[in-house]
Amino acid sequence: LPELPEVETVRRGLEEATRGRAVLAVPWLDHRMVRGPIGADAIRAGMAGQTVDRVERHGKFLVWRFRTGAGLLLHLGMSGRLTAGVQPWAAWPPHTHLVVAMSDGQEVRLRDPRRFGRIGWVQPGDHPWPNLGPDALARNFSARCFQETLGGRQAPIKSLLLDQGVVAGIGNIYADEALFRARIHPLTAGGRLTTADVRRLHRAIRQVLRAAIEHRGTTFRSFEDAAGREGGFLPWLRVYGRTGQACQRCGGAIQSRMIGGRTTHYCERCQPAPSAEASSR
Ligand SMILES: [Zn+2]
Repeated sequence: LPELPEVETVRRGLEEATRGRAVLAVPWLDHRMVRGPIGADAIRAGMAGQTVDRVERHGKFLVWRFRTGAGLLLHLGMSGRLTAGVQPWAAWPPHTHLVVAMSDGQEVRLRDPRRFGRIGWVQPGDHPWPNLGPDALARNFSARCFQETLGGRQAPIKSLLLDQGVVAGIGNIYADEALFRARIHPLTAGGRLTTADVRRLHRAIRQVLRAAIEHRGTTFRSFEDAAGREGGFLPWLRVYGRTGQACQRCGGAIQSRMIGGRTTHYCERCQPAPSAEASSR
């Protein structure tokens, strides 16, 4: 699934391809993807003639923002993929849910075979992500605010990292990678992390997300440009998808178990289990 680094890669690609360009028309928008009070036909009419100002990201959400201040909210779901390019000869492939014709001849298309993505209209001045916590790379996500949010929480830190209301943008891959780098066991209750733990985890989150962005994400091709470049972070994963392999730090075997319904990868030696004493407190 696309997480923050993959969505940031899409943000950069879409902005690079369309900034300053105008929307000529929206030949196709699948109403089944549309959420919110503004329907598909109104969105298509609203987009025509708009000029792209920038592309914003918060967590895993994007807003394709126009100069009028209105915008198109995009969430790629599990399998959404955006493409931008001049391809007048190519028919829309199956599972194409959005086609935007730009004034420079490009077409921006969204494909999403599993249709878990969503599209919505954002009015000027709207705050389109009311239920999301701070973005994991934003300045307002500080170690201190993170610790305040975790205070008193009994849920495992792994589950809290996936909770987009706690911090936005982290999914299963980067939660496991950040916990390994911070040497924190994924079952540790959020409220039992010490100040030093939270600082280490906060630093690990930002480091792993930034490194993944440098590599355009892990394996996903969420955005396809003319060069068709793919994410290259896969070889840098230390625990995710490595069950049974040797830990690169201690040589022990990487474990996996279900936590909150999600397969979680960790090293028992590098990430010691919360002590019985701590658990009974
Ligand atoms: Zn280890």
